[in-house]
Amino acid sequence: MKNVKCAKCIKCGAEIEAKPDITTCPTCGGIMDIVYDYEAIKSMVTKEDMAARKDPTMWRFKEFLPVEADSDTAGLKVGGSPLYPAKRLGEKLGMPNLYIKDDGLNPTSSLKDRASAMAVVKAAEAGAKTIACSSTGNAASSLAGNAAAKGLETYIFVPERAPAGKVAQLLVFGANVISVQGNYEDTFRLSAEAIDRWGWYNRNAAINPYLSEGKKTVTLEIAEQLGWKAPDYVVISVGDGCTIAGAWKGFKDLYAAGFIDKLPKLVSVQAEGCYPINKAVAEGYDTLVPMEENTIADSIAVGVPRNFKKAVDAVRESKGITVNVSDEEILEAMKVLGATSGVFGEPAGVAGTAGLIKAVAAGLVPKDATVVSVVTGNGLKDIVSAGKAVGKPLAVPPKMDALLDAFKGIGGPQ
Ligand SMILES: *Cc1c(COP(=O)(O)O)cnc(C)c1O
Ligand SMILES: [Zn+2]
Repeated sequence: MKNVKCAKCIKCGAEIEAKPDITTCPTCGGIMDIVYDYEAIKSMVTKEDMAARKDPTMWRFKEFLPVEADSDTAGLKVGGSPLYPAKRLGEKLGMPNLYIKDDGLNPTSSLKDRASAMAVVKAAEAGAKTIACSSTGNAASSLAGNAAAKGLETYIFVPERAPAGKVAQLLVFGANVISVQGNYEDTFRLSAEAIDRWGWYNRNAAINPYLSEGKKTVTLEIAEQLGWKAPDYVVISVGDGCTIAGAWKGFKDLYAAGFIDKLPKLVSVQAEGCYPINKAVAEGYDTLVPMEENTIADSIAVGVPRNFKKAVDAVRESKGITVNVSDEEILEAMKVLGATSGVFGEPAGVAGTAGLIKAVAAGLVPKDATVVSVVTGNGLKDIVSAGKAVGKPLAVPPKMDALLDAFKGIGGPQ
């Protein structure tokens, strides 16, 4: 890979060759980071080249991605999700420069597809036939879908609380699904043991450094969609921390390669029932203190975030802010976003928007700032939670009299 220098440990700084199957640091066990040669990238691609490209998927940014030039990246259509000017929500909040990035429109309906598409390409480069992961649900279903498209076998470990919609996706995509009777931490540990035992390719986000490189394409896209500008703030919901770390890496890469001339501030949103990353940032400590996983937002219910350091470093480096939201605020945001924008997010998918609404009300984000709120997962994955956000429809017998009566009751048309 002409654009990649090496992989570097974020803990001890050890540098190793960026082989396709590297995991954590061989010296200290820390998480690795992919290091690019920005001079090489500059010589390989310009903004004008990018503008001329027809490929709308994440692979349009290939010079910024750690894949071999001859790797086969054909697969599901991942990336190219819309960045909507959120006019009506913006009016409601008094924010004229608000955007929604709807990443629930990826093929398996979450941002995780960006990491999984990368994982299946790297697995193929490594010559692997079987790939495995543990996940709160979306990484699992996206791996299963992207692997199905590539003809790879998958072993997927999910906690028993995973919503039915996500488990249905897994089974439909033909994964070998193991539903672990325990929490996400238990699930992660069992998957790690199984991966060791059978030597499968590892798609666990905190172990495999290529995954946040896939996830960073969400911010490469945002910058391009804004005309190669970074917004003032990017709002992201945070569980393991891989997504927000990837989002930050994307902006830093563009900045280092001269594609953008400033960096945004990150808004890290977690649930009040589980916020170990935000607590460390807010209170200024560096060692993970595990937390309970008490939130309706299952995709960010991560009591022991595996990408703790990368995430904490990202929020700090960006001079960003942290916001914690209650389940009620998440459900309210789901309703408001849906009704003003036509975008339906799952609880973790709209937690960012909930956090933004709260941060603006508290004066932490100025109303005139350019803000992108990323919706990370689609609401159809978890309709039980959606049912808690909204009421029931008006039920009537098939008679006009009955309809008029029912309308009278709610002040409807007569
Ligand atoms: C995984 C996920 C997140 C958080 O990403 P992390 O890398 O775990 O921090 C947020 N929203 C949704 C819908 C997700 O699936
Ligand atoms: Zn190390």
